Amino acid sequence: MSETEGADRRGKVDRPGKEVGEGFGEAEVAELCRDLIRIDTSNYGDGSGPGERAAAEYVAEKLAEFGLEPQIIESEKGRASTIARIEGEDPSRPALLIHGHTDVVPANAADWTHHPFAGEIADGMVWGRGAVDMKDMDAMTLAVVRDRLRSGRKPPRDIVLAFLADEEAGGVYGAHHLVDRHPGLFDGVSEAIGEVGGFSFTVNEQLRLYLVETAEKGMHWMRLTVDGTAGHGSMTNKDNAITELCEAVARLGRHQFPVRVTKTVRHFLDELSDALGVELDPEDMDTTLERLGGIAKLIGATLRNTAQPTMLGAGYKVNVIPGQATAHVDGRFLPGYEEEFLTQLDAVLGPRVKREDVHSDKAVETDFDGPLVEAMQKALRAEDPIARAVPYTLSGGTDAKAFSELGIRCFGFAPLQLPADLDFAGMFHGVDERVPVDALKFGVRVLDRFIDAS
Ligand SMILES: [Zn+2]
Repeated sequence: MSETEGADRRGKVDRPGKEVGEGFGEAEVAELCRDLIRIDTSNYGDGSGPGERAAAEYVAEKLAEFGLEPQIIESEKGRASTIARIEGEDPSRPALLIHGHTDVVPANAADWTHHPFAGEIADGMVWGRGAVDMKDMDAMTLAVVRDRLRSGRKPPRDIVLAFLADEEAGGVYGAHHLVDRHPGLFDGVSEAIGEVGGFSFTVNEQLRLYLVETAEKGMHWMRLTVDGTAGHGSMTNKDNAITELCEAVARLGRHQFPVRVTKTVRHFLDELSDALGVELDPEDMDTTLERLGGIAKLIGATLRNTAQPTMLGAGYKVNVIPGQATAHVDGRFLPGYEEEFLTQLDAVLGPRVKREDVHSDKAVETDFDGPLVEAMQKALRAEDPIARAVPYTLSGGTDAKAFSELGIRCFGFAPLQLPADLDFAGMFHGVDERVPVDALKFGVRVLDRFIDAS
């Protein structure tokens, strides 16, 4: 693996993006991110992905270089995660977990400006699948930890590092495996940081919000089935499974679940009203969302439960009415609203539809308070005087769901200061995923300060 190819082409420095006077971690973070992107860790959800083992070994090697003794744990062949523990100044204090996943969703190279697994650095950005989800944070964590190990700066309390397989398919072979089978690795851990949060949203010249994830929606991925009467396509049939199913699916697809203002959404809106100096009405979220530009799609989905039809299946010949039709639906519910969600869902679907889960996971929520949140605020403000951290709910799911089973308070905090015009939310699983090199360096500085204050 060539380390300096990109830099040579730029002809200036011996490390991509290295500038005079910057720290060891800042100097190598882009390179670490690029190396990780070059390891194709696509997760197809069927165990066929090629690269998690190589990524786990890469991470272990980078940590071992400065004296840690990481463990590589495989749940199945090739499904490898790397774990390490760093001793803190006061080992009697509860430990902090910093976790990141090393797998990525697949990418179709033909759609991309730069090859998704080339890890190119161009226009001040590191390009490639995983640049924001989440090899950026993996690289920032490695860079900060390596710098601290190298210079002998102990964290105030123990830190457990976890670089995990399989997050993109629900974490069964990664975080859930470790939590279920090796919970001792997380002994004494009280709090955790990971994705998806800590990124900036510039409101104006006086204010930049950093969205810290404190809650996640839960999920019901489900299969809907209607059984009808099979028969010849030329004859009348009042019990056609396709017709019945399609009516139910269409009703569901058009259905709007009611707005539910959870604790986290309330807190987010309060902070935003305060910041903008205007009253935001949760009942008139359309107006509120208009003010949020690129992050509206992130926030808009956290105001209500949702159920999106995503797959349909029925029939095998044009003149045969099949006896059964199926559909798949991606359902997401807010913390505290699972029961309401399922009740309303069944009411919309009606009695003909049989509903079963193909995968489900819980919602999680923690309060936005305490010393760790103060440490985030402090670290952000030290690097960005107009920073203000605010809590938000993620509409998707992360490995936080697994770790919360151990009673760990989980936060999405992977700090990045982003250009105001970058469509960051759109890059998750999107085409031309990329992260500014300066944002990675900012993240390294903030994480380093955060660890000191934690
Ligand atoms: Zn992710």
